Amino acid sequence: LEIEPSDLWRILKASGIKYVKFIVIDINGAPRSEIVPIDMAKDLFIDGMPFDASSIPSYSTVNKSDFIAYVDPRAVYVEYWQDGKVADVFTMVSDIANKPSLLDPRRILNDTLEQAKSKGYNFLMGVEVEFFVVKEDGGKPVFADSGIYFDGWNTTAQSQFMKELITAIAKAGINYTKIHHEVAPSQYEVNIGAIDPLRLADQMIYFKIMAKDMAKKYGLIATFMPKPFWGVNGSGAHTHISVWRNGENLFLSNTGKITEECGYAISSILGNARALSSFVAPLVNSYKRLVPHYEAPTRIVWGYANRSAMVRIPQYKMRINRIEYRHPDPSMNPYLAFAAMIKTILRGFEERREPPSPTEDVAYELVNTLETPTTLEDALKELSKSFLFSEFPSDLMNAYLRAKQNEWEDYLTRVGPWERTWNVITD
Ligand code: GLN
Ligand code: MG
Ligand code: MG
Ligand code: MG
Repeated sequence: LEIEPSDLWRILKASGIKYVKFIVIDINGAPRSEIVPIDMAKDLFIDGMPFDASSIPSYSTVNKSDFIAYVDPRAVYVEYWQDGKVADVFTMVSDIANKPSLLDPRRILNDTLEQAKSKGYNFLMGVEVEFFVVKEDGGKPVFADSGIYFDGWNTTAQSQFMKELITAIAKAGINYTKIHHEVAPSQYEVNIGAIDPLRLADQMIYFKIMAKDMAKKYGLIATFMPKPFWGVNGSGAHTHISVWRNGENLFLSNTGKITEECGYAISSILGNARALSSFVAPLVNSYKRLVPHYEAPTRIVWGYANRSAMVRIPQYKMRINRIEYRHPDPSMNPYLAFAAMIKTILRGFEERREPPSPTEDVAYELVNTLETPTTLEDALKELSKSFLFSEFPSDLMNAYLRAKQNEWEDYLTRVGPWERTWNVITD
């Protein structure tokens, strides 16, 4: 249901909203925003909100800095965990000549979905967002609980926070299913989906805003860092995907085996996984999660009930309806990452390659299978060689690679605490 921005403004005002937060997404997927009192916001709903695009990484340069953010009436969420008086609206960005910005991650995902639609494909996606809720001790993050997977005892410390979080999620209209304590101490997981991928990306970002803000109220810190602690599980953002054509799910099977189309999708994801890594595991820290024995993938294989594989096919009573891609982590820019996954699957449908046979063994012990990139640098090299690089607007890809390469070089030249502990051996 599409409504006009001016009608949206009226509805928000009539329902007691006092402030509007206009959200622009940057190249890292981080939300940037401006808060405007509702009465002053009316014109901005109609004419768009002007902002300095040169001060948001990737959009533009100082000499061409005037850009406009237009509200997306399908993407409004109320901050119910606060006093319910602030409405957050996601925007799409254009330049002053009203030319859509091809550096806007929301626009990129939107256009990718349109492309898919023009080929007759609709995507539904869901995501399992894992995160840590930690305390600060002397400037360092420490565990806030000693809980374990599906903990029924040790979640009490955080249960008020968890209840409040899940209530706020439901109230905001986020399509959540459940929350549980995850494998590592202080680790939780919330599931969102299955919905339109643009909605999903918005809701994932909104959920992160919400969790971080609410944790603060309890003196806690919610972190979506992929591997905040050595020696325990990191946080993943397993992404579930189904593809629909003429109202039918192409991945639906009751035989216990995947459909042909599902196989093409799997083989394209695996075949392009090393390049996809730079979108789905975009931080230096992401690669400290992708190591053996922590339920995160290290080998480019697929399987059914195999949680060491990169792609898993969840089955419930012999019924298959989707792919679970376990490579992503919650630091990804979900707009770019989902767009990359969709482009990869569309390519799979064109190439029609049969996937390799599923892996039943624990993948960490496999040899002779392709490895997940082990560093951000490794992943970036793969991206520049990949078909994906030319699938996206070149300005965007150049900006992305530059930003990520800077990050890698910065990391490489810094001296960290680990080196000091090893240095004493020869010092
Ligand atoms: N935390 C694991 C990961 O990094 C997943 C664990 C699980 O969901 N069973 O992906
Ligand atoms: Mg899960
Ligand atoms: Mg999990
Ligand atoms: Mg999972």
